Amino acid sequence: MMNGKEYKESLKKLKPIIYYDGEKIEDVVEHPMTKPHVNSAAMTYELAFDPLYENLMTATSHLTGKKVNRFTHIHQSKEDLVNKVKMMRMIAQKTGTCFQRCVGLDAIGATFITTYNMDKAKGTNYHQKFLKWLEYIQENDFMVAGAMTDVKGDRSLKPSKQADPDLFTHIVEKREDGIVIKGAKAHMTGMANSHEMLILPTTNLLPGDEDYAVACAIPIDAEGVFHVFGRQTNSDRRLHGDIDTGNAEYAIVGGETLTVLDNVFVPWDRVFMCGEVEFAQDYVTRFAAYHRQNYGGCKVGNADVLIGATSLIAKYNGTSKASHIKDKLIEMTHLAETMYACSLACSYEGVKMEAGSYYVNTLLANEVKLNCTRNMYEISRLAHEIAGGFIATLPHENDLKSEVTGPYIRKYFAGDAKYPTEDRIKIARLLENMSGGTALAESMHGAGSPQAMRIMIGRESNMEQKEKLAADLVNIDISKY
Ligand code: SF4
Ligand code: FE
Repeated sequence: MMNGKEYKESLKKLKPIIYYDGEKIEDVVEHPMTKPHVNSAAMTYELAFDPLYENLMTATSHLTGKKVNRFTHIHQSKEDLVNKVKMMRMIAQKTGTCFQRCVGLDAIGATFITTYNMDKAKGTNYHQKFLKWLEYIQENDFMVAGAMTDVKGDRSLKPSKQADPDLFTHIVEKREDGIVIKGAKAHMTGMANSHEMLILPTTNLLPGDEDYAVACAIPIDAEGVFHVFGRQTNSDRRLHGDIDTGNAEYAIVGGETLTVLDNVFVPWDRVFMCGEVEFAQDYVTRFAAYHRQNYGGCKVGNADVLIGATSLIAKYNGTSKASHIKDKLIEMTHLAETMYACSLACSYEGVKMEAGSYYVNTLLANEVKLNCTRNMYEISRLAHEIAGGFIATLPHENDLKSEVTGPYIRKYFAGDAKYPTEDRIKIARLLENMSGGTALAESMHGAGSPQAMRIMIGRESNMEQKEKLAADLVNIDISKY
């Protein structure tokens, strides 16, 4: 396993092409826009060496029997599923943001199951190829970006019916030695500071869409790949100062790229799906459920930080003893713990798959994420209400540092005289950045938009059984309908 420092050194050996603001990022570890995201991902490495968290952060590989970082592990029990959630809450408490490595973990978990199912039904040999690649990932402790979301073009049309065939990633050539793929993957969390990407389909596919049924692994610096790093709310503050960024060490939210795959060659031993349209839905469902499970871990860890920031602001403001403030903090805690409870529930209700791994309860995993799309907004709304309007009107950090205006800012932004004004400003900036803009949009759309969850909840709701429960009570035989 690598520690945080070794992870950063390993990134320096890669040569990905990444653009930001019209220029190339030469060194993701040091560039001001990517550095805090790298620091956050590095915590998934560093904490694996902390004896306090060893149980959460590491596991025993079922492939080699060796100790591996949990982010490369195939879940072997319900306890593994539960530990995943607990690990995520813990890391999110320490970083106050997204640590990005979970998407690859979930792509790995889904690929493990779907390649097994495909091989069983069709006599293909994807599973063994995938296991070989996974062992390579575990041995090197690489970070994998889960590359699912296509750019999708006209949302009402299937991939093969789009005006531009590249709006979903597809196979453009099959050769003796491998395939060539083209397209783009959007919102790629952690891509810029991963080692590899695991590509999988983004939607249910029908016959006619065979070229779009593709899963494969490629290095992030493979020939033909380039990335455009996204701009976040307030990210330019990183160029100015520490306080205004809110969380200078780890940034706010994931750090996403548009990743363009411009005729990328993939050798056959790295191809894990090639044309099996009938397995796309299974693949997407598994990945989505694994990823939706997480949000009662990482978002709750972030909410813990946000609730703490809100409680501190109330103290600085002199309002902490007011009963309605106390009640709102209780409400925030209640909303957060509800999400956590749901994540634990979908893990404890997990099942062993025929492939041998453990998989979460799909219905409950979708409930986790649907709750998150509401609860994080409500938690943030309450944080804003308690904090007050000054979080939106605070002057620049340089005005705080200025000899001319600094003394006045300290004087007039003071709250309860027990506390330094600068502490009030620091926490206000943290709260501002954690509760708005990119952070909230991520809670809404990360791991799938609300309608995607509702479709899954509809599918998994077992309405016939519920109708029968009602009918049985009043002696109606609905089987005759
Ligand atoms: Fe992991 Fe959460 Fe970030 Fe998704 S949003 S990659 S689950 S930390
Ligand atoms: Fe996410």
